[in-house]
Order: sequence, then structure tokens, then C-alpha cells
Amino acid sequence: MPTGLIVKALSGYYYVMPDAAQGGDPIQCRARGIFKKRGISPLVGDRVQFALTENGEGTVDEVLPRSSELVRPPVANVDLVVLVFSIDEPQLNLPLLDKFLVHTESVGLDTHICLTKQDLAAEAPEVQDAEAGVHMPLSEVIRLYESIGYSVSLTSAKEQIGVDAVIERLAGRISVFAGQSGVGKSSLLNAMVPGLELETNQISMKLGRGKHTTRHVELIRLSNGGIVADTPGFSSLDFLHVDAEGLGACFREFADYAGDCRFRGCLHQHEPGCKVQEARANGDIAATRYEHYLHFLEEIKDKKRRY
Ligand code: GDP
Ligand code: ZN
Repeated sequence: MPTGLIVKALSGYYYVMPDAAQGGDPIQCRARGIFKKRGISPLVGDRVQFALTENGEGTVDEVLPRSSELVRPPVANVDLVVLVFSIDEPQLNLPLLDKFLVHTESVGLDTHICLTKQDLAAEAPEVQDAEAGVHMPLSEVIRLYESIGYSVSLTSAKEQIGVDAVIERLAGRISVFAGQSGVGKSSLLNAMVPGLELETNQISMKLGRGKHTTRHVELIRLSNGGIVADTPGFSSLDFLHVDAEGLGACFREFADYAGDCRFRGCLHQHEPGCKVQEARANGDIAATRYEHYLHFLEEIKDKKRRY
């Protein structure tokens, strides 16, 4: 039975790109009734077995095992999340970046940090982090995240700078872009994919409804085999589903020290003999990262108290 990839789901139809096809249109398929009985439904990003029916359409007969399952956007088998942050307009928000990173670490997704609007660098020479009371040059921010182990790219969709480096990162995997509205996600995708014309600069509608609420997800195929969802990922509701004990493990650089803390289950807050606090005091862990950790820890504890 032929296999393929669901690239779009709309009005009860699944659009399957056969693995054997070199381009061309996907095949419009219905899911077999069996899925309903089993209580699962195929997702965009699913690898499936399908069969052709006489009218040029098809049926999805089997969903192959998933490696991951994202809720927002609903996409299966995502390998990589590209966290998109502009260096200006809006300003680079380091607490939010760290929050996104906690999320991607907690669900075990590989992460690339893509900084956009590089052409505005002269207007934003320093990154302010009011939460941690720190400001630092952009180059230092990039070095910090690279030293923790994240890849970082600096791009401008407007000037077509750094776009190819991002495309290279996406080769051979399914990726989702995530980031605040207005940071330039759609512009970046448009710059990456010839002929793609996602709408940019849309203002959220009234009633707090975002611009993507009525849209369906569609996967875009890049020339190097990379596949990108055209709808950004996550919402603020998805964050901090981590418990207090698990938060430290979402800060990669803490791992070098946390194992040597005096107490097991150390929350690296006020405990004596805490090696994370010591590393922070020595400057081996960045002030911004540690401050954000403490804030998230309080948020998590608050949430626990409320429910
Ligand atoms: P999204 O909400 O993250 O998809 O962001 P958009 O792609 O809609 O872009 C939001 C605004 O930022 C638009 O006004 C874009 O023209 C602008 N923008 C996007 N990329 C760049 C860039 O590289 N440089 C500059 N200066 N502006 C950009
Ligand atoms: Zn500790």
C-alpha cells in the first residue's frame, strides 16, 4: 500500500502527498471509518498508508506511529521548533524567550532561535531585560544562547539576510515557527518560500481572537526536503505545564551543577549547598536566565496554590 504525508486537513478531507511523487498536487482523501471507532483522527504531519479510489481521490487507511503531537498548531511528527523573536519592534523579550525554551525543553522538541529584523540593529543596540534588571548588547545575547547549546540565526526578511541559513536548519524535518505576533514569522516564511504569500502585518481582530483562529494548517515543502507549518505554534496557555521539581531540567546549563547540590530535589532558590546558586554567583550561569528561572518557579507555585 502506498505511503504519504498529510499536508493539509480541511472539511473532513485529508490531503496526502504520496512519498513517490516528485511535486504535483496532493491526493484528496477521506479517513476510513475505523479511525472514529478507535477514537483517533489523522493529523497534518501524519505519515499514512492510503489507497486510491476510482474518482482520483483516496482513503487514509492507516496512520503510522507518531514521534510527537503538537496541539497548537495540530501537527504530528514535528522535529523542530523555530522560536522567532525580533530584535526590535517588538523589542527582544528575553523572559518570553526563556519561557518558550522551558516549553520546548519540557516536551523534548529540538529548538532553533531565529532573531529577525536584523536591519533594525542600529536602533536597538542593547537588549533590555527589566525582569532581571540587566541590559546587554545583542551579540552577548547570541553568545549566551549559543553557549547554552542552542543554535541562533540573525535574519532580515526585509533585506533577505540570513534566510538561507534558516532554510538549511530545516532540511529533512518538520518544523513549526513560534513567537509573538508581529515579530516577522510570516515575512520570514514568505522570504524562504518562493511564491508563498502569507498575509503579513495583520492586526488581531476584536474579542481577542487571533488572526489564525479561522485558518487551517498547511505544510509547506522546501526545496531541500524540509517541511514547515504555515501556522505559528503554541499560545500562552501552553506554558509552564512543568512542575517545580522539573523546571530546573528545562534550563540546560543548570545540568552541569544541579547534580552536585547538597539536597536532592533542590529548587536552587535558598537552599544551602546549592551549586546552581554558586554558579550564578560566579557568573557561570547568566543573571537573566537565573532570574527568569526564579520567576517561573514562583508562577508555578502560585498556580499550584490557586487550584
Ligand atoms: P508575524 O505576526 O510574526 O507573522 O509578523 P509579520 O511577518 O506579519 O510582520 C510584522 C511586521 O514586521 C510587518 O509590518 C512586517 O513588514 C515587519 N517585518 C517583518 N520582517 C521584517 C524585517 O526583516 N525587517 C523589518 N524592518 N521589518 C520586518
Ligand atoms: Zn540547587
